[in-house]
Amino acid sequence: MTSIDYLIVGQGLAGTLLAHYLLKENCTIKIIDPHFAGSASKVAAGIINPITGRRVVKSWKIDTLIPFAKQCYQEIEAKFGIAIFQECNILRALKNVKDENLWFSKTAYYDLAAYLAEEPKTGAYAGQLKDVFSFGEIKQSAQVDVKLLMETYRDYFLAADLLQSTRFDHRQLVQQANTIQYQDWEAKKVIFCEGHQARFNPYFDFIPFEAAKGEMLIVHIPDSNFKKILKHGIFIVPLKNKDHYWIGATYEWEFEDDAITQMAKEELLARLEKVLKLPFEVVAHYAAVRPTVKDRRPFVGLHPRLPNLGFFNGLGTKGTSLSPFWAKQFVDFLIHNIALPETVGLERCYSDTVEEGKA
Ligand SMILES: Cc1cc2nc3c(=O)[nH]c(=O)nc-3n(C[C@H](O)[C@H](O)[C@H](O)COP(=O)(O)OP(=O)(O)OC[C@H]3O[C@@H](n4cnc5c(N)ncnc54)[C@H](O)[C@@H]3O)c2cc1C
Repeated sequence: MTSIDYLIVGQGLAGTLLAHYLLKENCTIKIIDPHFAGSASKVAAGIINPITGRRVVKSWKIDTLIPFAKQCYQEIEAKFGIAIFQECNILRALKNVKDENLWFSKTAYYDLAAYLAEEPKTGAYAGQLKDVFSFGEIKQSAQVDVKLLMETYRDYFLAADLLQSTRFDHRQLVQQANTIQYQDWEAKKVIFCEGHQARFNPYFDFIPFEAAKGEMLIVHIPDSNFKKILKHGIFIVPLKNKDHYWIGATYEWEFEDDAITQMAKEELLARLEKVLKLPFEVVAHYAAVRPTVKDRRPFVGLHPRLPNLGFFNGLGTKGTSLSPFWAKQFVDFLIHNIALPETVGLERCYSDTVEEGKA
């Protein structure tokens, strides 16, 4: 039996960044993950977008999340000598004068001014788009190369013998007085970071998931040279490979599995053709499931009755901005006993339905 501080189940964004901050506190950890194909972090565009919705409002806690995320990703860049964080403005297509008036009225709002450019610049998109009245431009947005981040940390964990590539079997957990055992490990706590697969975790079946399947394409648009992210019904996100773009995504709340479908591909192609004048070719097509929850706030904390089981999940559509800050908050709670805010607590959906003694 090997004693460790934390056993982490899942090495998506949540598990990786939790491990990042636990290692910084000199904790001993082990991660278990067979890297399922339909994991959200594998396909995410990695966009950090401070302004959302038709009403042009700030994302929740974004003033805190963006600087924190930037510092975290730059720290990881320095640790491994990789480039994963790229500040990149988002151009938002405005369809009519009403949208335009709303957008430009918002540029005068004190708390939005830092995020909205006064004079949008379309750059290489000029003349290449259909069905646009005008543009708004979002500043302080960014794109994180989530795939490279995951793969780099995965190699690091494997080399340090911190990662086991198998599926975690919840039935093999054995509760002890102050610790918990799983196979050959005895840990102070097991922290579940299973993304949408947490829907099948018997210990946390009271969390109200509304998982959303998403499909996306990688396309090549010859001689396009787009530098900014475009939101025009669909997202066009420049990738490192010249003239290659992440295109997406679909939202499906009722689905059988996490496999790619012809229907979603056709939907994405139709949406891209509707807005883009240039010819393009599809290079790849992926699908995954977002760990979305009903109230769209992450879940960070311990099981209400079994305090050696933790949970970090519900990152939904905003994993890149949410995960660095909440991973650090969780580690501060675990190591330094700094309380977590109720907004992210598991208590908000914990009621008498979590029966005494259940799982
Ligand atoms: C198409 C699409 C586009 C997206 N675009 C963006 C974007 O632009 N910006 C943004 O911020 N977010 C985006 N997201 C959301 C983002 O991907 C998620 O918020 C984030 O990746 C969730 O990370 P996670 O670690 O919670 O889950 P996941 O990435 O799903 O990771 C969970 C991990 O747990 C492992 N696991 C599960 N069960 C077990 C088990 N029993 N045993 C062992 N391991 C297990 C899985 O293999 C997986 O590696 C997008 C998502 C999708 C699907």
